Amino acid sequence: MKPVQSSLKKWMQENENFKERHLQMKEETLNDPKIQRFLSAHPNLSEQEIDVNLNKLYEYKTQSIQCSRCSSLDSCKNVLKGYTPILYVENDKIHLAYEKCQNRLVYEQDQEKHDLIQSLYMPKDILQASIGKVENDEKRRPAIRQLLQFIEQTRSKGLPSKGFYYYGPFGVGKTYFLGVLANELKKQNISSMLIYMPEFVREIRDSFKDDSVNEKINYFKNADVLMLDDIGAETQSAWFRDEVLGSILQYRMMERLPVFFTSNYNMDQLEEQLAVTTRGGVEKVKAGRIMERIRQVSEPVPLFSRNRRR
Ligand code: ADP
Ligand code: MG
Repeated sequence: MKPVQSSLKKWMQENENFKERHLQMKEETLNDPKIQRFLSAHPNLSEQEIDVNLNKLYEYKTQSIQCSRCSSLDSCKNVLKGYTPILYVENDKIHLAYEKCQNRLVYEQDQEKHDLIQSLYMPKDILQASIGKVENDEKRRPAIRQLLQFIEQTRSKGLPSKGFYYYGPFGVGKTYFLGVLANELKKQNISSMLIYMPEFVREIRDSFKDDSVNEKINYFKNADVLMLDDIGAETQSAWFRDEVLGSILQYRMMERLPVFFTSNYNMDQLEEQLAVTTRGGVEKVKAGRIMERIRQVSEPVPLFSRNRRR
């Protein structure tokens, strides 16, 4: 008998403790200034409704106190990070709901903006390029003017169907211009996809292993703005040129989606370059077809200036 008796005693003791804690919690909750304000704003709430929903009131009390102490999303102590509790009455019943707090909203907006530039193998300084940092030297003035026009046109009439084909020697800031554009478009909530061509070829080749080629190609077809950096610097297979690059450009041409390029070659030189593939031999017709598409989706812009790389 003894074990039973002692268990019973223990249970009664715990029950007693529970009741005590419950009473204490109730008192604490009902005395909370926020809860008192809530209750006096809703004088029709029944005693029973309040009792039944004591846990909600308690939760509201603890959560909101912590919430008002939050200085940033990271330091948020609420159970649901970045959510503020709201207590309200509907049909004489108490409800507790959560909504995103100010910090969370700001965080989500930043995150969304961040996602607007996607890049494969682009240097950090390019991703942080800003129009304010572009040196306005004599030689680059026309290119800068065109860039500003493009941004303005996007703002007033939506994305133009043609991007730019920046060409010129190494180190003059061609890739930097792409970074500036991507960041300006981001401000208008337009996403850009920037890819360094040699890595693009590698990426597609590697995606054979996991069968994701078509998925990736579709992704490049449909990006708001596609930026292909350093075209002509890669060694292409005929297959990549015709089936990957060709089909992406064809699609974008028909959908009137802009593509930007940078290259060390002007368009005529690139055409020669595209005619030579890893297969050997010269395929002028096919290269001409790709060039035609490149001309459809972009407008050539020469960039000549001093070499900025040291
Ligand atoms: P390219 O693509 O023509 O070879 P980059 O765009 O890579 O040249 O520019 C070369 C270097 O100069 C990079 O480090 C880049 O950050 C820097 N750079 C280019 N243009 C500017 C600019 N307008 N203002 C500041 N730095 C620049
Ligand atoms: Mg470059």
